[in-house]
Amino acid sequence: MSGTDSVPSDHRDFVRQIVEDDIRTGKWQGIVKTRFPPEPNGYLHIGHAKSICLNFGIAQEYGGKCNLRFDDTNPEKEDVEYVESIKADIRWLGFDWEDRLFFASDYFEQLYKWAEQLINDDRAYVCSLPLEDIRAGRGTPSQPGTDSPHRSRSTEENLDLFRRMKAGEFEEGEHVLRAKIDMGHKVMLLRDPIMYRIRNVTHHRTGDTWRIYPTYDYTHGQSDSIEGITHSICTLEFENRRPLYDWFCENLGIHHPQQIEFNRLNLTYTLMSKRRLLRLVNEGHVTGWDDPRLPTISGLRRRGYTAESVRSLCTHVGVTKHNATTDMVVLENQIREELNRTVERRMAVLDPLKVVITNYPEGQSETLEAVNNPEDPAAGSRNVPFGPEIYIEREDFMEDPPRKFFRLGPGREVRLRWAYFVKCHDMVKDADGNITELHCTYDPETKGGNAPDGRKVKATLHWVSAGDAIDAEVRLYDHLFVTEDPDEVADESQDWQNNLNPTSLQVMAAKLEPSLSAPAQGYRCQFERKGYFCVDQDSTPEKPVFNRTTTLKAPWVKKKKQTG
Ligand code: ATP
Ligand code: MG
Repeated sequence: MSGTDSVPSDHRDFVRQIVEDDIRTGKWQGIVKTRFPPEPNGYLHIGHAKSICLNFGIAQEYGGKCNLRFDDTNPEKEDVEYVESIKADIRWLGFDWEDRLFFASDYFEQLYKWAEQLINDDRAYVCSLPLEDIRAGRGTPSQPGTDSPHRSRSTEENLDLFRRMKAGEFEEGEHVLRAKIDMGHKVMLLRDPIMYRIRNVTHHRTGDTWRIYPTYDYTHGQSDSIEGITHSICTLEFENRRPLYDWFCENLGIHHPQQIEFNRLNLTYTLMSKRRLLRLVNEGHVTGWDDPRLPTISGLRRRGYTAESVRSLCTHVGVTKHNATTDMVVLENQIREELNRTVERRMAVLDPLKVVITNYPEGQSETLEAVNNPEDPAAGSRNVPFGPEIYIEREDFMEDPPRKFFRLGPGREVRLRWAYFVKCHDMVKDADGNITELHCTYDPETKGGNAPDGRKVKATLHWVSAGDAIDAEVRLYDHLFVTEDPDEVADESQDWQNNLNPTSLQVMAAKLEPSLSAPAQGYRCQFERKGYFCVDQDSTPEKPVFNRTTTLKAPWVKKKKQTG
């Protein structure tokens, strides 16, 4: 997909249209200021990448700025490890917050002052009901809530209690600060929402300074306001919180950014929630946050995805007001198209079966020329050794081949890629009847893969010379879940974890052509007929480890959901 630069104005998404209208009408004096506001409670996933591309992208396209702000109001769940991983992932995606790195916790003092201001204005009060009673008092969407008995506390009493909450004089749960809005409001969230809770916990940045912590709702809009954000772009589930966002800005009389909601990115066969990804990590269903099966940015990176392919998916799916699920195939196609153009071809046998070339002259060996990338003539060619013993893929031979199987079988001839025609005349089996070795003859006249007499073969196999092969571990990945929507469970007693795919990881003891000895970290190539691969961080010069990024072709997609 091309970048947004080439999209005609009237095809821009609705968020960009709003930004353009605002620039035209001078609503914000032509200023465009966005932010990406992650909570540091886990690693970023590809859904966050969509938000990053949108916020940083809009700032870039309209001469604006995008801040990185950690929304760190929930000390129990947050950690510096997450802060650092989030920064690394955003940089890897190709975006830069320059000197605009902020933390909501930097605003705790200001937020506290504003809370006192709201108490003084009779717009906030200390409520001492237990949490369950507060919840019950909210009412239902069809029934109004009931006023807290503490709603009419005097300003003096409220200020005194609130200051003592801050000073750490109370236990958790004894009091909360609530906004005084309307217990009968049709929007439930506006029925006197909680602004502050007592929490006797250490914060990863403010340490033990604070004994009270502001809620997300009381923090987010004001943080936007402090930073002079113009367009506060968030996902659709925040739509119902917008009235509260607006209420705080209005009642504090501060700069009031416009909240705009867009649709989340969802993918089939996976989950997109830090809370659940954390469970997968903690319960050992994956090897860590960067497990190549996860939709985390670090997992995709380790899997071999490029930043460009992740960004182009985000452009491809677009920005709308409707939630939908994108087929995983759409993501895979982004990287397939890119790697097909950019990476070289190599030969690797993932499930080796030995072939002895019985008529190959004793003591002889030779090198053959192999083209590096048929899509890119500039990539040139390399030499691959050929000798009396080679490996082919076990699945490329059948003792009793069915009609549609065109590869090797007894008495059949096939082409070895870049090499010769070979014909099978014998099989060696072990005591259990498993084939352990094939015996073939080769035709020296077919060097390079063509017969001078014009005879044809129906299959071309990849292979590796046994005497020169490099032993490697190759990891093949499948979907983490067996169902398109892991949340779909047969009955209520089940959990999405029951849908985990037991064969999502397959480890192969592979044989590689010698040009792949001691591959560098970050190296990517296509293994002919087997897919696109990259070197894993576990790789050593003695034992290379490769991950399959994706197969060569998209699997047959039965039911196409929304593809963006
Ligand atoms: P999660 O449920 O995975 O924890 P979150 O929304 O709680 O996601 P935050 O760290 O609060 O995570 O999100 C930072 C920003 O990323 C928010 O503005 C949020 O709207 C956006 N975001 C999160 N998930 C997605 C998604 N799937 N698609 C697009 N944007 C997303
Ligand atoms: Mg969140």
